[in-house]
Amino acid sequence: MRTRFPPSPTGFLHVGSLRTALMNHLLSKQTKGSFLMRIEDTDRERLVPGAVENMLKGLAWAGIIPDEGVMLDKNGEVIQKGTHGPYFQSERLDLYRKYADELVAKGHAYHCFCTPERLAEMRKDQEARKQAPMYDRLCLKLSKAEVEAKLGSGDATVSERHVIRMKVPHEKTITFNDDIRGDMRFQGHTVDDQVLLKGDGFPTYHLAHVVDDHLMETDLVIRGEEWLSSLPKHLLLFEWLGWTPPRYAHVPLLLSKDRKKLSKRDGDVAVEEYITKGYLPEVMVNFLALLGWNPGTTQELFTMEELIEQFSLERVQKAGAIFDPEKLDWLQGQWMRKIPVKEFAARILPTVAEKFPAANSDHDFTKKAALIQERITFFHEAPEMLKWFYEEPHVSVELLANEKQKVTAAQLPEIFDALTKILTDVSEKEWTAEGIKTAVMGNLGSFKQGQLLWPLRAALTGLPYSPGAFEVAEALGREKAMERLKAAVAIIS
Ligand code: GLU
Repeated sequence: MRTRFPPSPTGFLHVGSLRTALMNHLLSKQTKGSFLMRIEDTDRERLVPGAVENMLKGLAWAGIIPDEGVMLDKNGEVIQKGTHGPYFQSERLDLYRKYADELVAKGHAYHCFCTPERLAEMRKDQEARKQAPMYDRLCLKLSKAEVEAKLGSGDATVSERHVIRMKVPHEKTITFNDDIRGDMRFQGHTVDDQVLLKGDGFPTYHLAHVVDDHLMETDLVIRGEEWLSSLPKHLLLFEWLGWTPPRYAHVPLLLSKDRKKLSKRDGDVAVEEYITKGYLPEVMVNFLALLGWNPGTTQELFTMEELIEQFSLERVQKAGAIFDPEKLDWLQGQWMRKIPVKEFAARILPTVAEKFPAANSDHDFTKKAALIQERITFFHEAPEMLKWFYEEPHVSVELLANEKQKVTAAQLPEIFDALTKILTDVSEKEWTAEGIKTAVMGNLGSFKQGQLLWPLRAALTGLPYSPGAFEVAEALGREKAMERLKAAVAIIS
């Protein structure tokens, strides 16, 4: 199956766009077809330099590489490749004009010379009368001779301004079966006479989409639900040009947690922000695939390969999909734990060593990495999470005492007395997490577990959160651990 991703280069790669790109990618791979990228750069005023590179990089980060169309070469340059190009719509203007003229010749489209001022006036009027904004067909009343005179008048201001509009048959009922929405039915009189070719000679999305997805042999169009209301226009164009439309699947919108359309106010919507924050590409892919799609099982973690195997449009819901940042973070944690520990250690070593060069010569680094892998969300948190090993902790009475663990400042001398006694008795040979645990748990005396463990861990790390007291004590080694215990005693006495 040939699928496509045709972004408008008007800004960054939006998470919603990455989701539709992903779905298109999954189905092309599932069917051993191809995935094509085309650039819809017909809105010249909204072009943003660098947007195409940004989008391709975002896709590549997620593991989506176009098979055809616009892609990055080995040097990171944007190139076009394939037999259906050019893939920048701005380089295909002659084609769109040809089909627009054909539609005019067939009587399905007409020239319109209305000025923007007149159209604005008309819209204001319609609004005041609570009517749907639609072109009032003033120019449809022009005779052929009048149109020709205007077109050939040589008056640049007039001929520059004219557009070509489609002539929607008001009495027609347009029906279609969408892969997600099912049977759809549109009444012609509710559909506006859409502009197909603009005054600047560029097509609108509507004409360009139909021409391109026909000529580029697209089998399936997966796009956002915001295009659903335009579907009747596209279906009419396919019919008038004598072409079979592709299959369409309109995917539900992304919603914020309060069920409003996801916008910048709800946090980051640019894929780039998530890359910068340190989300794993696997997590983003997993997360976006589950927005609106459910596998019908309890499985929550999916690799790209599993998604290619299991994804299906039948299991995509019609209702909006909630973009839940907490779920994203949960998935991030899950994926972090899945990384083989050696690989995890290798990935965090450079950042940790940048802050603590001693990490480079630490033979036990993997063991330390394993201690934080259970708790970490982002790689960049690693130096902070391991700093207790590489630098002396800042310990205070406020940290050592802890209300939740029922440790008061007044109790600290007694607690550290007990801890010192217990740990002095643990030999160098027994100094493992297990050995220390046995010693502490077997000698709690009148203390509750937390009353010894919290101060011990806090004294060893200087942190409110860290790996457990026994693991930390083992990692530090007996000598260093006993020194820190002594230092804590000095602080409290
Ligand atoms: N250029 C359109 C957009 O960025 C593409 C929509 C489609 O997938 O056809 O929204």
